[in-house]
Amino acid sequence: MRTIAVVGAGTMGQGIAQVAATTGFTVFLHDASGDALRAALDGIRRRLESAVQKGKMTGEERDATLVRIQPAPSLEAAVRHGDLVIEAVPEKLDLKVEVFRALDAAAPPRALLATNTSSLSVGRIAAATRRPENVIGMHFFNPVPAMPLVEVIRAERTAPSAVEAALDVARRMGKEAIVVRDSPGFATSRLGVLLGLEAMRMLEEGVASPEDIDKAMTLGYRHPMGPLRLTDLVGLDVRLAIAEYLHRELRSEAFRPPGILRRMVADGKLGRKTGQGFYRWEPE
Ligand code: NAD
Repeated sequence: MRTIAVVGAGTMGQGIAQVAATTGFTVFLHDASGDALRAALDGIRRRLESAVQKGKMTGEERDATLVRIQPAPSLEAAVRHGDLVIEAVPEKLDLKVEVFRALDAAAPPRALLATNTSSLSVGRIAAATRRPENVIGMHFFNPVPAMPLVEVIRAERTAPSAVEAALDVARRMGKEAIVVRDSPGFATSRLGVLLGLEAMRMLEEGVASPEDIDKAMTLGYRHPMGPLRLTDLVGLDVRLAIAEYLHRELRSEAFRPPGILRRMVADGKLGRKTGQGFYRWEPE
């Protein structure tokens, strides 16, 4: 595998493209919006420049990395030569199904098609193609250059050779991979969201203040960030949507969204992006 097409150049797509190019892959980057594609290339350039300023990369390495990233005006042009396509469009099943149908038609038959979904069923996305054995989940984390994990999601019909290929790419991108069966919330979201929901229930019951609940995990368990602060960063609306999905799919009361979460979302207290969540945030 030498060539990776990245479809969707938002927060995740540009991070994936940057890391892939930095680690030697040729990258074709596509977005349905020309503005988003331009912004992604600017963002990558800025971050690489900052890496040079900090002495983490030489000027030659920066230039070589940028040469390896080719903007692609159409999905077809992006995936025509791809050994691997990584899809990073918004988290909507209908949209991903539509994109995978188009990828299946345009990408070489041997190409592996990966989705960066953080929660949706990889099997349902794979069913939109004529090559479900070559469809897999590659779940990167934000910010991609800094986060070491890739969750590789094996759907029911994913071939073992596809899993091996995804693990190999993740390793070459400098990441550590785990293999997870296609199940709601995979390993990361299922555990991470549960901790956040329990912290909210504890807050509702007056067990402790938000600061002290978070300190319980940062100081007592060495988590880098407490579950309420993390919910503020992710966005309470995003967390509510995932909790509703997991509650429905896993049929577990542990994922029933607590009243406080529903009320705060209804009040527009979505966390850092609105200035108020479990904490007050200054504008960025
Ligand atoms: P985003 O909104 O920042 O970017 C999505 C991009 O896709 C946009 O630039 C949009 O113009 C583009 N797009 C929309 N429809 C398209 C189409 N048909 N073809 C090509 N491009 C299209 O979203 P994001 O935060 O980067 O999330 C992308 C995926 O990654 C989602 O599945 C999300 O769940 C997952 N994810 C996000 C995070 C995170 O922290 N943001 C972390 C892990 C996984």
